[in-house]
Amino acid sequence: SDFLATSDPAIAKLLNQELERQRDHLELIASENFTSAAVLAAQGSVLTNKYAEGLPGKRYYGGCEFIDKVEQLAIDRAKQLFGAAHANVQPHSGAQANFAVFLTLLKPGDTIMGMDLSHGGHLTHGSPVNVSGKWFQVRHYGVNQQTEQLDYDQIRELALRERPKLLICGYSAYPRVIDFEKFRSIADEIGAYLLADIAHIAGLVASGLHPDPIPYCDVVTTTTHKTLRGPRGGIILTRDAELGKKLDKAVFPGSQGGPLEHVIAAKAVAFGEALKPEFKTYSAQIITNARALAEQLLNRGLKLVSNGTENHLMLVDLRSIGITGKLAEQYLSVVNVTTNKNTVPFDPESPFVTSGLRLGSPAMTTRGLGVAEFTEIGNIIADRLLSPDSDPVAADCRRRVAALCDRFPLYPHLEIPTPA
Ligand code: PLP
Repeated sequence: SDFLATSDPAIAKLLNQELERQRDHLELIASENFTSAAVLAAQGSVLTNKYAEGLPGKRYYGGCEFIDKVEQLAIDRAKQLFGAAHANVQPHSGAQANFAVFLTLLKPGDTIMGMDLSHGGHLTHGSPVNVSGKWFQVRHYGVNQQTEQLDYDQIRELALRERPKLLICGYSAYPRVIDFEKFRSIADEIGAYLLADIAHIAGLVASGLHPDPIPYCDVVTTTTHKTLRGPRGGIILTRDAELGKKLDKAVFPGSQGGPLEHVIAAKAVAFGEALKPEFKTYSAQIITNARALAEQLLNRGLKLVSNGTENHLMLVDLRSIGITGKLAEQYLSVVNVTTNKNTVPFDPESPFVTSGLRLGSPAMTTRGLGVAEFTEIGNIIADRLLSPDSDPVAADCRRRVAALCDRFPLYPHLEIPTPA
């Protein structure tokens, strides 16, 4: 804005550079998206000025009459969107949401069981560098080595042996559908709580395009900024209203202070958008586009973990073409395609190098790209990765990326001033 440019030109310039970067790159990071202008407006609002510790109607600060209505709308819309009896919309992030669940259900020393990070799990599901790995005994399951998919018999066997108090499903890099009902039956056999962390697939779940975790899980957490396309943040959902009250206390005062009400307003706007029919069209297109990209990569001879995708993301296994994830990410970055290196199951490389590349369709689907364009993206990626040393190929890829970005403008209402 003009205000920012006048008062802090250094930050204003960097924001404009970031806007330009978002405009002229193909954004294929599976966990990223472009929020609506309305979400941006709600987040950049006067609500950032307000302290509102507590919950709507039960605050520790005066002056919350409008904030209360904002947060109540966010809660009501989240409950409606996911069919949950209870929602807490205050977690500052997905990690914060998961931590509040642990604080509610567990004591230090208890055993938890989630997917191994290197197979697609998240850091907060028991990685030794995260509090979940430091405070709890962790047993990890992985995918089946042959199918590279969840193997419920294997998970059941491990669960019966290890008897975790909390079983976690939901992942950061798993391209297939999750069967929550099967997880429930495993959890029931050992009397464990079941947490689904649907951070990645929340938009698909909200649209009814991925099975619904709410009927089967004690608690469901999600981020709000991935397929759900809201501001960065987290929420906690449950069908159990009594458990909901305990979860509320674990968020505040258990692990957070004042809620970010400007972000909560933006969450409410995003949930409102997700309740509209257009959101389902967008979610369906995410899946169609991911499938088109996967098919083209396979056509071009690249290998995909589990041989394909059923959701918004896929993992390219680069071992067959002899490059690492780290190099592939760099090769694509040079031609303005943004991706992230990622371990593949049973990866021989370290997490800093990796043998895989994670690709997702949500962000470019939001920009309006369809099957023809995602097929072209598959060709651009294959051209670049199969001839990484060719300057003419790199130049051609860069030109084709620019052509796609030009055809699908991003935030046309935002103007970047030309330097005087
Ligand atoms: N859970 C899963 C499955 C995730 O993929 C992520 C983010 O990558 C998170 C939790 C953490 O979310 P945040 O980065 O908002 O803390």
